[in-house]
Amino acid sequence: MSRRPRTALIIGGGLAGSAAAAVLARRGWRVTLIADDDADRASDIPAAVMAATIGGATDPLTRLRRRGLNVTESWLAHLERAGFDCGRTARGTLLLPGNERDRARHRRVPPDDPDARHVTPADARAAIGIEPPSDGVLHRRGACIQPDRLANALRSLHAGSIHTRGGRVERLVAHEDGWTAQSAAGEPLATATTAIIAAGTACTRLWPESRRWLLPARGQATAFRATAASAGLRVPISGGGYITPAIGGTHWVGATLQRGDTDPAPRAEDDQTNLAFAQRCLGLAEIPEAIDRFVGFRATTPNRIPLVGRLADNLWITAGHGAHGLLTTPLAAQLLANAIDGHRHPLLRFLSPENRRDGHPTDANLK
Ligand SMILES: Cc1cc2nc3c(=O)[nH]c(=O)nc-3n(C[C@H](O)[C@H](O)[C@H](O)COP(=O)(O)OP(=O)(O)OC[C@H]3O[C@@H](n4cnc5c(N)ncnc54)[C@H](O)[C@@H]3O)c2cc1C
Repeated sequence: MSRRPRTALIIGGGLAGSAAAAVLARRGWRVTLIADDDADRASDIPAAVMAATIGGATDPLTRLRRRGLNVTESWLAHLERAGFDCGRTARGTLLLPGNERDRARHRRVPPDDPDARHVTPADARAAIGIEPPSDGVLHRRGACIQPDRLANALRSLHAGSIHTRGGRVERLVAHEDGWTAQSAAGEPLATATTAIIAAGTACTRLWPESRRWLLPARGQATAFRATAASAGLRVPISGGGYITPAIGGTHWVGATLQRGDTDPAPRAEDDQTNLAFAQRCLGLAEIPEAIDRFVGFRATTPNRIPLVGRLADNLWITAGHGAHGLLTTPLAAQLLANAIDGHRHPLLRFLSPENRRDGHPTDANLK
């Protein structure tokens, strides 16, 4: 007798929801993914950097980012082999020190590291086409990615098992056999045995207890036209901000970060901050002119570790991917799917709402 496939409803079609849908679909689940086309999507950032992590630090965030890079890179390779466009350009990363701690970490890269090497500004010019203002680390891994294309590819890989529908979920209602996602009018949008909230900053509306960890952080990235001097940049730069190589003649530089700020209006001063950073890193004679900008909201946590795990019976969350969703969302999807199947990876202890100790001062309001 054949077993009926398990069913999941996922709220959110950004990187986190799409990655969770891909993992469950690959394991034979039937997935309904609901995405509000009018809601904010951090994953719409036109170009983002998947930065490599260096050093042997063993703190949970570094372990997560290191492991996350392995998972995201292997997924990208798999998707690209299957013919999907994940918006990946420019392999590698130039890591510049954002602060003194980075500088010390960069100096500790061993000379025999197969992936990373310490470079002077002149070494960097020879390798990647521009001369940065300081020493840095040139890493073979990492890339520039268009997150929306990656999210699309993830949903398309198992399209037969993932039903994607538009709609704004107002509430989740528990019942004997699982969960129903309802619209504001009380209309059922989907019902499944298992529900996953992957709604970015909107998770706090769907599951108010998540306010304890999730805080929106406004970010603005700015586009400028490539010049003769900047067009030679061959890999993304990361460190206290990021700059992409020119894609179709345009660089993106970002991103500002304002915690607790939910204003979607673009700001001239944010463009200036970004463009001054680009001028400094690329050694440009003048501050370039902004030709476009993107304002989005990251869901951040106090210790920068994503919020991934169980909320209630058959209800799970993957959120809080902050400024490193490219590194953390595929790994989070794997950890979540394993946990749903009863296999708890030791890392989950730091991510799960059931275990983690960090929290915003709003804790008191929730008691
Ligand atoms: C300016 C900026 C620059 C960034 N740069 C980088 C970078 O260089 N590298 C990097 O790794 N990361 C970067 N990030 C972070 C990265 O974009 C995020 O970590 C990642 O996109 C988070 O994905 P998500 O799926 O959790 O959330 P989102 O992409 O925000 O997706 C949320 C989803 O939930 C849906 N939704 C919300 N509410 C509802 C509802 N009520 N009903 C139904 N659906 C709903 C939305 O429609 C959307 O589909 C940047 C972010 C910003 C804003």
